Amino acid sequence: MTRTVTTVTALRAALATRRSGSIGMVPTMGALHDGHLSLVKEARKDAQTVLVSIFVNPAQFAPTEDFAAYPRNLEKDLVKLAGQADIVFTPSAKEVYPDGFATTITVGGPASGLESDFRPHFFSGVATVVARLLIAAAPDLAVFGEKDYQQLLVVRQLVRDLALPVEIMAAPTLREADGLAMSSRNAYLSPEERRIAGRLNLILKEAIAAARAGGDLRAVEGAAIEALWKAGFSHVDYVAIRDAASLDHITHLDRPARILAAVKIGKTRLIDNMAL
Ligand code: AMP
Repeated sequence: MTRTVTTVTALRAALATRRSGSIGMVPTMGALHDGHLSLVKEARKDAQTVLVSIFVNPAQFAPTEDFAAYPRNLEKDLVKLAGQADIVFTPSAKEVYPDGFATTITVGGPASGLESDFRPHFFSGVATVVARLLIAAAPDLAVFGEKDYQQLLVVRQLVRDLALPVEIMAAPTLREADGLAMSSRNAYLSPEERRIAGRLNLILKEAIAAARAGGDLRAVEGAAIEALWKAGFSHVDYVAIRDAASLDHITHLDRPARILAAVKIGKTRLIDNMAL
């Protein structure tokens, strides 16, 4: 039986009887797809109790962004989680941020650059809500997707710096048949935009091949940006080949690296990344 709770008090009470086994948490913003469900399965491998949170976090959206339009479908989400999650935590914004809430967590290191250059508010919103949720639930482990690779590194940094007693596990990106990374925001795409979106992963793969063949990394990034414009994306925020652990700039593939990209199609912003 999957139990839904909406308050931190009820969440802690529901978890209190289950602490003899390990608790695995999967934080989400809902509009669940198979990528989210793969994280739930990953949590299940290592945890006796699986907790999924569904909370569209206002703090990680700028006023100009899609907070109001962000897809919400709690009923469908609960159907998908039935039998997969033991507890689903669906707090209100007031529950997460009670009146008078005045704390913001700012992470440096991997939070610098890339997404932060285009969404400066984003990682403080993420770090604050992730800390809030992890402290509320106190899980033994929490699973995050490589789909949001910079976010994964930021969460690891946050947990290390605050010595939160939780193990952060990474799960690979689930993709559609044409390679498009699954995302709740894909629901915004018109059929024509959806076709163009499918090119992003292919252009990143071409860039990886060019980098591995010895191409100058800045030239490879530049060629990928040009290919994305040509493919019909309306804007390219960045394509960057970085150190996979720190996201520092690199000039040679002499260590594990990652290619990361953010693009827009019409009003929809998509991100993707792959290992090099
Ligand atoms: P979100 O609901 O977009 O905040 O995502 C919740 C969690 O699911 C995050 O850890 C994401 O990285 C992860 N996630 C999102 N899309 C995918 C995907 N296509 N494959 C695997 N994990 C994903």
